Amino acid sequence: MILTVTMNPSVDIMYQLDELVLDDVNRVQTIKKTAGGKGLNVSRVAHQQGEAVTATGLVGGELGEFVKHQLTEQGIQHHFSMINGKTRNCIAIIHEGNQTEILESGPSISEEEVEAFITEFETLLPDSDVVTISGSLPTGVSSAFYTRLIAKATQHHIPVLLDTSGTALAQALSREPKPTMIKPNLSELASLLQTDEQQIADNLAEYLQQPLFKGVDIIVVSLGADGAFVKWHDSFYRVTIPKIDVVSPVGSGDATLAGLAVGLSREEQPEVILKRAMAAGMLNAQQQATGMIEASKMTQMMSEVKVHQ
Ligand code: ATP
Repeated sequence: MILTVTMNPSVDIMYQLDELVLDDVNRVQTIKKTAGGKGLNVSRVAHQQGEAVTATGLVGGELGEFVKHQLTEQGIQHHFSMINGKTRNCIAIIHEGNQTEILESGPSISEEEVEAFITEFETLLPDSDVVTISGSLPTGVSSAFYTRLIAKATQHHIPVLLDTSGTALAQALSREPKPTMIKPNLSELASLLQTDEQQIADNLAEYLQQPLFKGVDIIVVSLGADGAFVKWHDSFYRVTIPKIDVVSPVGSGDATLAGLAVGLSREEQPEVILKRAMAAGMLNAQQQATGMIEASKMTQMMSEVKVHQ
């Protein structure tokens, strides 16, 4: 089973308008509400590939109930810890070819709620082959928190895929035990290494050998339409992908993480895992919905990905 962790999920609302009029009333007919948050995107895409998934994290209030209800409807198992605060809304307004977003920061979490979650997380580990941790930490949770989860999973010899950014990523890399895998994009790497993006892009193999990454077995640097550059233990891979018609690449990084988790859980070879991960990212980019793929196209898409060691 793949266990996905989403500490700050949301209910994502999409409003589609012909025109956004400021300082006036905007009436909207095309509305979509989805259980959101990076880890839930990972859950959906792993589930669509036929893998057993359990989603965990923190939810509260009516929107927390909405998140659980939607996952149940989609056939995805979940085991969330309940909090007193309320799960947030994130609003995206699509208008005149633009996307204007209004993101609530989410509830504040108490120390007792953090400890209750850790206890819940531990009960889920014996049934898990792979753990994915995605996204930012909610207010009230220490930036060292992900290391606690990694330590628990490591005690059970379960690989952990960590997809976060900013302080949470920097903290996880500065402590032991390290995550098994990280999946930064170039801008996340640039802010982590406090170096210019282009400079990193031109010298990726060199940068990925910095002491900061010691102990991280696999680093997948996703490069959008350019595929990925990967450090897998002591080997390096350049992964190239075909040109595709893109509808919405939002969530493609999460779909990629799902592909990596599915491949690791099935103990596939690195080349196959990387093809699966890229194919999942591309299939997500071909859909309007975030964190959704057309799984029947997976094999064909994987055959078009090239992996060079
Ligand atoms: P996000 O934060 O939106 O989830 P990300 O920055 O973490 O994305 P990307 O590098 O943009 O991740 O995308 C992950 C993978 O998805 C890419 O490696 C690629 O396989 C696929 N992908 C993303 N964008 C495109 C695109 N425009 N064309 C083709 N494939 C894409």
